[in-house]
This record gives sequence, structure tokens and C-alpha cells, in this order.
Amino acid sequence: MVNIEIVKPKIWNFKVVGGQDAWKEVVYSARMSGVPEVVKDKDVFKMLVENDYGSALEHIIIKFDLKMSKGNAPEFLEHRIVSHSGFSTRYIKVDEGIEKQKPMYEVILPLHLLSVSQLQEIVGNDKLLKGGVDAAINRYQTLLDRKIPREIARYVLPFAQAVGIYHVTINLRSLLNFLSLRLCVRASPEMRCLASQLYFLLLGRLPEIQGLVGCRGFMKGVCPESGVTGVRTGLQHWFYPVCPFKNRKTAICIPTKKEMRKGLSLKEFDKDMAMIVQEKLFMQWARWE
Ligand SMILES: Cc1cc2nc3c(=O)[nH]c(=O)nc-3n(C[C@H](O)[C@H](O)[C@H](O)COP(=O)(O)OP(=O)(O)OC[C@H]3O[C@@H](n4cnc5c(N)ncnc54)[C@H](O)[C@@H]3O)c2cc1C
Repeated sequence: MVNIEIVKPKIWNFKVVGGQDAWKEVVYSARMSGVPEVVKDKDVFKMLVENDYGSALEHIIIKFDLKMSKGNAPEFLEHRIVSHSGFSTRYIKVDEGIEKQKPMYEVILPLHLLSVSQLQEIVGNDKLLKGGVDAAINRYQTLLDRKIPREIARYVLPFAQAVGIYHVTINLRSLLNFLSLRLCVRASPEMRCLASQLYFLLLGRLPEIQGLVGCRGFMKGVCPESGVTGVRTGLQHWFYPVCPFKNRKTAICIPTKKEMRKGLSLKEFDKDMAMIVQEKLFMQWARWE
């Protein structure tokens, strides 16, 4: 039997090129376009993010490494305006890699989303979920022991294998687009976990962006998820988190486009409260809880 460890989706080596002053280049580019000196630097930066004058944000370059399940990695790769270099299961045995201290088979399983009874039913070593994953990885090792090439043996590996590993370079415009789509209750758990980690890392390195980042609804003031049953309308989807912005009676309600067009009357939006509420959720998602 091989050693298999359950790990979380992870972001590491996060850096903003140009450091704490990187945002000033956005201001510089805005001044080039004629924004007058009477508008203070920080207000210029804020205006460019809030008003979605996105091209100026492309001057800020962000780099990080990420680890997720191989099965969910295509969701990350759907974001095309990103440069990435990935872990090769053809050239590297999947228990190895430059990010590991010692060889170890790693898998990502969202066990925290299961109820206690579901966990008891499917997660024990000999049981459906974990047992199936373990069996697949053991077969991979057996195939390699029998001198089958890695590029053939890898076909038995499970969706959960944590080899969706990438070195990433992305500009701020594209990162904000990524966050706005993936900090949403409708995004998949792994993508929410990665996006939430990126959210806190970005705020830590670029505090000027505080209050300007969140789901598409938070960023634009209106949510495009109009006809999505169980999230914004109809019965709550049994497995999705509740959207914190959908209750019309609260001061943090963000209308969908459809509701807006119907002339929905709302309380004045409490942005500070909305930030507190969303960050509580992001904290939970980032911790993979
Ligand atoms: C909740 C959720 C559910 C999803 N469900 C599905 C699904 O069921 N099936 C599925 O396939 N995908 C799904 N996606 C993925 C989604 O459709 C996008 O592919 C993904 O989020 C990448 O977004 P993007 O295109 O904005 O990003 P990027 O690819 O980084 O592009 C950034 C922006 O550049 C522009 N752009 C990029 N390429 C082009 C182009 N070729 N032509 C014109 N403009 C371009 C667009 O303005 C785009 O917004 C889902 C995403 C979310 C968040």
C-alpha cells in the first residue's frame, strides 16, 4: 500500500510585481490619459477599479503557484487571460514534484461538505470514496512497478489527484475577473477555496484595493445570475451555500439584472456590512471548511 495524504487546494509564492507601490503604475497610466492632479492618487486607483477602466489595471502583474485536483484543473484553465506552466504527469511521477518535501501521493477531497452519516458511509479506507481513490493510486504504483511508462500508467489516476499544479502569471484586470466569477456561491468548492485565498493575499499585498473586490454582484452592484434556480431565485439549491446578498429585506441585498429591470425598490446598500459578511464566507472557503 502506498502513502496517500488528503490535502487542501492551496496558493503559495504569491507576489505582486513592484510590491506595495505596484498600484502607482495604474495611477501613472491614468495620468497619461489625462486624469488631473486634483484627483488624489489613491482615488484615481479606486476610480479605475470601480468604474471598470480595466486596461490600466493590466500594468499590475501578479504571480503565484497553485495546487488543486487534476479533475477540477480545467475550470482554472478556462480562464484564458492567464499564463500558466503546469505539472507534467508524463515527466514526473505523481508522488514527486519540486513543491514536495518528500515523495507523497496527495489527493483533494471536499469531505467537509458531507454530512456525518455520509462520511461514515463513504469515506473510510475501505469505503466507496476514499477506498476508490486509494485503489486507483495503488494501481498506478503497481503499473509503474511493472515498468509501464508514466504516460500510460497515469490513465488510472483519480479526479482527486492533487496534481493540478501551476505556476501562474496574471494581470490585475484578469485576476479581478477571476475573483468576481469564483467568489460566487455558484462556483465549485475548489475554485471558491482558491479564489478566497487569492482574495486575502491580494488585499494583504495591495491594501488600496480593499472594498473593491468580491463577486460580480458586489463589484458591479448588480448580479448577472438572473434565472439561476436555487441560488438567486426559487428554492435554495440543497448543496450550494446561501448567497449572502439575495435577501431583499436586508441592506446588503444585491439585485439580479432581472430584479433591477422590474424596478425592485431596495434599502440603501451598506457596503461595509456587505464586506464583513462576504469576508466571513471567504474565510470559511479559504480554510476549506
Ligand atoms: C459559476 C460558474 C459556472 C460555470 N459553468 C460553466 C459550464 O457549465 N461550462 C463551461 O464550459 N464553463 C463554465 N464556466 C466557465 C465560464 O464560462 C468561463 O469560461 C470562465 O469563468 C472564464 O471566464 P472568462 O471567459 O471571463 O475569463 P478569461 O478567459 O480569462 O477571459 C477574460 C475576458 O476576456 C474576454 N475574452 C476572452 N476570450 C475571449 C474570446 N475568445 N472572445 C471574446 N472575448 C474574450 C472576455 O471579456 C472575458 O471575460 C462557469 C463559470 C462559473 C463562475
